[in-house]
Amino acid sequence: MNSSNKTEPIIIVGAGLSGSLLAIFLAKRGYQVKILECRKDMRLDNTYSGRSINMALSSRGINALKKIGLEQEVLGNSIPMKGRMIHGDRSHLSLTPYGRDEEQVIYSISRAGLNASLMNAAEKYSEVTFDFEKRCLGLDLERDEIRFKDLKNGNHFTVDGQCIFDTEGVTSAIRCSMLAMPYFNFSQLYLEHSYKELTIPPGAGGVHQMEKEALHIWPKGNYMLIALPNQDGSFTCTLFLPLKGFLSFENLKSPAAVRSFFKEKFPDALELMPDLTDHFFQNPTGSLITVKCSPWHYQEKVLLVGDSAHALVPFYGQGMNCAFEDCVVLDQCIDNHGDNWKLVFQEYESLRKENTDAIADLALDNFVEMRDLMADPKFILKRNLERRLERAFPEEFRSKYSMVTFSDIPYSEAMRKGRLQDIILKQLCYNIVSIDDLDLKIVKRKLDSAWS
Ligand SMILES: Cc1cc2nc3c(=O)[nH]c(=O)nc-3n(C[C@H](O)[C@H](O)[C@H](O)COP(=O)(O)OP(=O)(O)OC[C@H]3O[C@@H](n4cnc5c(N)ncnc54)[C@H](O)[C@@H]3O)c2cc1C
Repeated sequence: MNSSNKTEPIIIVGAGLSGSLLAIFLAKRGYQVKILECRKDMRLDNTYSGRSINMALSSRGINALKKIGLEQEVLGNSIPMKGRMIHGDRSHLSLTPYGRDEEQVIYSISRAGLNASLMNAAEKYSEVTFDFEKRCLGLDLERDEIRFKDLKNGNHFTVDGQCIFDTEGVTSAIRCSMLAMPYFNFSQLYLEHSYKELTIPPGAGGVHQMEKEALHIWPKGNYMLIALPNQDGSFTCTLFLPLKGFLSFENLKSPAAVRSFFKEKFPDALELMPDLTDHFFQNPTGSLITVKCSPWHYQEKVLLVGDSAHALVPFYGQGMNCAFEDCVVLDQCIDNHGDNWKLVFQEYESLRKENTDAIADLALDNFVEMRDLMADPKFILKRNLERRLERAFPEEFRSKYSMVTFSDIPYSEAMRKGRLQDIILKQLCYNIVSIDDLDLKIVKRKLDSAWS
């Protein structure tokens, strides 16, 4: 039943991470693909080379890159992170490994570098063309048209194709237009916390000034600082802090206030940040938002993919990984239904929606875990118990973190099993001081019987 229209182009709106990846999946099938992007070509525009922003890549993202043959190149430009390095009181350091062994790591990669690699890989296909500085203005529901503005000359124009994939990200203009559709469900939830990116520069000779192969966290209860390593020896730090209130971005108005806040709360980080106050006031303060909506499609014409359909807060490091998994699932649906887009869109949403809702909820839970519980001895005990169970029963037991990060188990299943697991393991850790006080076989039996 795989009918094929390989002459009329498919339109992708947004040449970000998921748009560029999706173009490759479609071009591999022989479709003509036209990508319209509002920015200049990031590979030529030095706005993107100034500041390194990095992200955590894990199994679901790697799996997608493997399918298009880009895994080795991307991992070659990454830094493995073995665990969370917790910066506690009086600059005490402790490393909590992410996985059951040294093999299970997540990778710090440059966002711009990854995007450029995907665009380069897409451009190798003659089927793919990029058109930059074309801003999508939305979907005209009355005329069934997608409207654009050419940012070079101000002209407005419309675009058509056999179907349109919207990968504009969290601020999607197309999704905004879909709000006018009857029965379109939509929710957006801003966190009271915002974020700001800061930098720890390389030390003398370009060396990393802290442990290189770790994701550093300074958990402070209601707020936190994190840092991920870059290949040039620097770290990109992100401060997550309430926007308003006593300890907030709103109250850090002067260089002196910022310096004194860091001196009191993050003294070891401050020592490594000579340009802290310059960066603090130069860099924007970003908002953190969860977006859910449905349906993800308009007729058999337009489909939302990636952050356009489901934006997550970044605390599980899964937004991009999830968007990449979207592309893998979409590719499977095209395998099943060819370019019968109606069936492709229906199957895709039925397979993904429950899972993207689940990871959105898990990401919100994980904020509390990172900023609050990382410094809690009972939480660390529970995490150690999970790792012990993973090593003792490698084929049978996976922690919630591991199911989300190191597997392709559907997010919804990871959430259900993981939350139940959390309750049981927390109860077991409540009255013990050491994991050695527990019989692992009995623990495992309790877990098994809880979800059988
Ligand atoms: C602080 C922070 C940290 C994060 N860390 C991680 C992490 O460690 N790991 C992880 O997996 N995820 C992380 N994420 C999430 C991740 O950034 C997103 O999930 C991912 O970028 C989504 O990819 P996308 O292609 O859907 O959207 P985007 O990457 O946002 O791409 C959208 C593209 O569309 C273009 N565009 C936008 N509007 C228009 C328009 N009107 N017309 C034309 N083009 C348009 C944009 O210029 C861009 O090129 C983080 C997010 C934040 C905010």
